Amino acid sequence: MNCKGVIREISDYIDGELDLPAKQELERHLEDCEDCKMVVEQTRLTVEIFCDSKPVELPTDVKSRLHDALRRKLHEKSN
Ligand SMILES: [Zn+2]
Repeated sequence: MNCKGVIREISDYIDGELDLPAKQELERHLEDCEDCKMVVEQTRLTVEIFCDSKPVELPTDVKSRLHDALRRKLHEKSN
């Protein structure tokens, strides 16, 4: 899995909705990629703050806004 794959799967990963092979692949990437590790940690924090630590499903529009923000971030970085 590459950085783009991580960004694509990040909300499912944080929600625990990713199937095991994809999850393992993503975590393997995180071990080698500080950038993605940071993005995942930041996203997890954002989600936790947003959800007030309760197991609440993120609204779809929030998820997609998060996705867009991360995509932009990744894009800026590669430029
Ligand atoms: Zn990466």
